[in-house]
Amino acid sequence: MSPQNITVLGSTGSIGVSTLDVIRRHPERYRAFALCAHSQIDKLFAQCLEFKPQFAVMRDAPLASALAERCRAAGLSTEVRHGVESLIELSALPEVDAVMAAIVGAAGLEPTLAAARAGKRVMLANKEVLVMAGELFMHAVREHGAILLPVDSEHNAIFQSLPADFSHGLSACGVQKILLTASGGPFRTVALDELSHVTPDQACAHPNWVMGRKISVDSATMMNKGLEVIEARWLFDAPREMIQVVVHPQSVIHSAVQYSDGSVLAQLGNPDMRTPIAYAMAWPERIAAGVESLDLFKIARLDFFAPDFERFRCLQLAYDVLREGGTAPAILNAANEVAVAAFLDNRLPFLGIARLNDQVLQSLPAGPEGSLADVLAADAEARQLAAHLVRDHRFA
Ligand code: NAD
Ligand code: MG
Repeated sequence: MSPQNITVLGSTGSIGVSTLDVIRRHPERYRAFALCAHSQIDKLFAQCLEFKPQFAVMRDAPLASALAERCRAAGLSTEVRHGVESLIELSALPEVDAVMAAIVGAAGLEPTLAAARAGKRVMLANKEVLVMAGELFMHAVREHGAILLPVDSEHNAIFQSLPADFSHGLSACGVQKILLTASGGPFRTVALDELSHVTPDQACAHPNWVMGRKISVDSATMMNKGLEVIEARWLFDAPREMIQVVVHPQSVIHSAVQYSDGSVLAQLGNPDMRTPIAYAMAWPERIAAGVESLDLFKIARLDFFAPDFERFRCLQLAYDVLREGGTAPAILNAANEVAVAAFLDNRLPFLGIARLNDQVLQSLPAGPEGSLADVLAADAEARQLAAHLVRDHRFA
């Protein structure tokens, strides 16, 4: 059997690099067909040298020309493209077997949707896709027979803990609750008044996971868990009352499913994203991922707490937008992307992230999710307002 061709959207990021590590371990099964990055040209060039993909994509034309030049000089036959149109095309080409959706944020929506519409195996890390356009995306998956495999560790754990036919309905399978675990991030126990002085580096120092900066800040505000509640709602067609966030600081139980007979099925492992990535790549088989085996004796204890919705207002906002429906989650997602970027750029204090998200949600009425154009319009409007509020120092 020839190796499967994989398009890696966001190959230079944290998930992208871990994906390439799994591909590297199984050259007989997988081939990096297209590698795509925003602007890290040196890293993408090094990946091209090692994986010799058929295509490489950078967001902007000048960097793409520079990369093309370097590939030519190195004797590579990699064809270099640029722009979102190329990402869309390379997610849907007939020779592509699977797409790893690992771009961060709304930028990944259109290429990931294109992969679903082309009926690919879609390995989804880019949770913002489901937050923005869950209904549209899940419809595309069903309509075009795509195989959707969650890469987010919690959703991967839930997927592993559900019966194979869960899409017939969770209640019919005896599911009572989805127990979505959360580490609580670096500020779970920090005094509230200290949170106003938090720096980007402190917020990005996650106790258990090494991740990109945006998701690290989202973990510190617990917006990440909020986005994951919305992600779970769509992936598993779960009503929001069925999704219970459980704070579990050790991040050993990656999530669990509680059944009507009293059983709770969970997936455990060391916090290493190569486990869910390898699972998504090989499903329904299992392959080596390079992850150290879990040593329960070393872990010794596991703790659980109820989430604090006052400390972590972003988590409450996520439940609120789920109740509201339509474009409300897309509005929250867009506001949050602007807020996090401003915080990382020292233009917004840490506590301003939740306040800004709240303000944008209160100012903009949600419409029906409707078409992709409706979602993108809500996203653009929310970004504009959020940027305006940051510029006016409303939350300084
Ligand atoms: P990252 O910041 O490390 O990497 C992001 C990647 O996307 C980079 O390769 C970057 O070049 C690319 N990118 C960004 N903007 C782009 C654009 N406009 N066009 C093209 N490419 C663009 O992020 P990450 O931590 O790897 O996270 C990626 C996604 O996976 C996020 O949605 C995140 O929430 C999700 N996720 C990550 C982890 C993790 O452990 N890192 C875990 C679960 C889910
Ligand atoms: Mg997660």
